[in-house]
Amino acid sequence: MRFVDEFRDPELITRASEEIRRLADPTRHYRIMEVCGGHTHAIYRFGLKDILPENIELIHGPGCPVCVLPMGRIDDGLTIAHEPDRIFAAFGDMMRVPGAKGSPLEHKARGCDVRIVYSPADALEIAKKNPDKEVMFFAIGFETTAPSTALTLMSAKKQGIKNFTVFCNHVTIVPAIRAILDSPDMRLDGFIGPGHVSTVIGCRPYEWIARNEGKPVVTSGFEPLDLLQSIVMLLRQLGAGEARVENQYKRVVPWEGNRAALKVMAEVFELRPYFEWRGLGFISQSALRIRDTYADWDAERRYSVPETRVADPKSAQCGEVLKGVLKPAQCKLFGKECTPEHPIGALMVSSEGSCAAYYNYEHRKSLVTTISAVA
Ligand code: SF4
Repeated sequence: MRFVDEFRDPELITRASEEIRRLADPTRHYRIMEVCGGHTHAIYRFGLKDILPENIELIHGPGCPVCVLPMGRIDDGLTIAHEPDRIFAAFGDMMRVPGAKGSPLEHKARGCDVRIVYSPADALEIAKKNPDKEVMFFAIGFETTAPSTALTLMSAKKQGIKNFTVFCNHVTIVPAIRAILDSPDMRLDGFIGPGHVSTVIGCRPYEWIARNEGKPVVTSGFEPLDLLQSIVMLLRQLGAGEARVENQYKRVVPWEGNRAALKVMAEVFELRPYFEWRGLGFISQSALRIRDTYADWDAERRYSVPETRVADPKSAQCGEVLKGVLKPAQCKLFGKECTPEHPIGALMVSSEGSCAAYYNYEHRKSLVTTISAVA
């Protein structure tokens, strides 16, 4: 299959990994952050860590939208929805994310009308079919999913559907990267730039990272060869003492982004002055809110929002893992109290969460190896 087979070709992968070994200076230790949760998942799924030289360390970034959502926002959304005439609609990967008073699925078990949808447009359809109910779509995601929420709000307004609202938790990737670079305990050599987000925003928004911070950025695809090629491109820049933004994912990411998607986002959303990120704290201008012209469809204006603040359980180290300071297995709860079956933090729930990816691929692999050695 085009775009899959050729990017998983074992011969090309071997050649790329040999090139990485040739380019990596054995006297250096490289710390490269993959910003996107989809990249973290691919790195563990395809075992890419095992074919890299030991002096190339991949640091997992904050690009999993479910993982960076503070628990208080989940509680706020579920509190609003916990009325007899309300329906809470969200993507499937939100359903098991724990809030302080339980996950959406646990609230469903307690009688709350919680529905899984595949798009915000599905939630709007539920509103049209249930005119006696108020449907709230719990919107999450980076710029990747924000355009579909914007289009749905435009459609709700055009059709005059008043029993539909959006609880907006859309966040923007660039301020999060800035917060990581400002973090005193973080030393990075370069970035594997996010693939999905860049299909919408393009590559230009990363240019300041190269210009002001002197770090190269390579926007990457998600197949094994994509990621290895991106590392080759980063090593070439680092070896030459350069810092530029390059686009490895040209087959999908336009340099200038998707103008139509950016236009609908600008029509419906504006930047919030600040927003709380799990693990990163409050970051200015890092999230989207609904503009006044769509206020009638904004759940935060239609309903009273408790603005719950919830601290993570003390022993959970989600914040450090999210910032890339700790590896998933270094969290004290990893694989013991916190597993995909019984998650404590969101990083263990979402398929893009680094703890879930590490558990499902690395941890299980080491368990199988240990069991085979004992048997
Ligand atoms: S193992 Fe669980 S508690 Fe620890 S960082 Fe990962 S998700 Fe958070």
